[in-house]
Amino acid sequence: MQVLETIAEVRAARRGLTSLGLVPTMGFLHAGHLSLVERAKAECGAVAVSIFVNPTQFGPSEDLSRYPRDLPRDLAMLEAAGVELVFTPQPAEIYPLGFSTRVEVGAVAGPLEGASRPGHFAGVATVVAKLFNIVQPTRAYFGQKDAQQSVVIRRMTRDLDLPVEVVVAPTVREADGLALSSRNAYLTPEQRTAAPVLFRALSKAQASFTLGERNAETLRNAMRDVIANTPEAEVDYVSLADPDTMEELVLIDTRALASLAIRFGHTRLIDNLLLEETARL
Ligand code: AMP
Repeated sequence: MQVLETIAEVRAARRGLTSLGLVPTMGFLHAGHLSLVERAKAECGAVAVSIFVNPTQFGPSEDLSRYPRDLPRDLAMLEAAGVELVFTPQPAEIYPLGFSTRVEVGAVAGPLEGASRPGHFAGVATVVAKLFNIVQPTRAYFGQKDAQQSVVIRRMTRDLDLPVEVVVAPTVREADGLALSSRNAYLTPEQRTAAPVLFRALSKAQASFTLGERNAETLRNAMRDVIANTPEAEVDYVSLADPDTMEELVLIDTRALASLAIRFGHTRLIDNLLLEETARL
């Protein structure tokens, strides 16, 4: 496994490879990240993982300085997973003095995470565009866990004709339903016990949808009711949106993205489930 810190080294390593899968991450890896690596390994000749805590996607009052990091552990996990290439740039390699370009994706980046975290998606889109250009992957792998992020990246990739196939893989969860996240490390034992409320609320919406409920506000209220029973949990947003446009729905036709952002003290967790009508027999 090659661990590379510079763009020049990545370009040199890329030359010998035909099909390459890229898994962009911010490190502090868990089984969710590794599921993306496994998928990439199955579909590509070689796999590259980037580990970069991207400062431009964090707001001024967010957790950039305390974001969890453990590079030796991450590298051991990636070595064991059979990854060929790891890109671990310093911020100055990605944002040298004078850097001034930003990728703004537009409407799909506006609501939800975009509204709660102004500037977040411009930071994400800019760094992902740069990673695509640096690594030049055949395919790039993202998690459904960050549903709006995957929509933003698909939109950018199409709009800018980036020659990369974007693959979105399912969310990996703990046994109690909590979606794996590097930020789960921030939770106190009491908050960790309360945290599966996100998945319980989403599951409640899914169950009502399966029983035929198509009024979006009724489903949002069902999720809010579940969360209201957990005093540690404070709602940032609860959403039932069109999975393509990210616009809030009034009535659901066949598909909807149920998503939420919940605070436990200073820790903010997100999760989602895609509600879909399965074909009737
Ligand atoms: P992060 O390091 O949090 O930026 O995540 C890197 C990639 O891993 C993103 O595409 C995430 O959507 C994905 N990811 C994070 N958590 C999970 C999870 N529990 N299951 C699947 N993918 C995930």
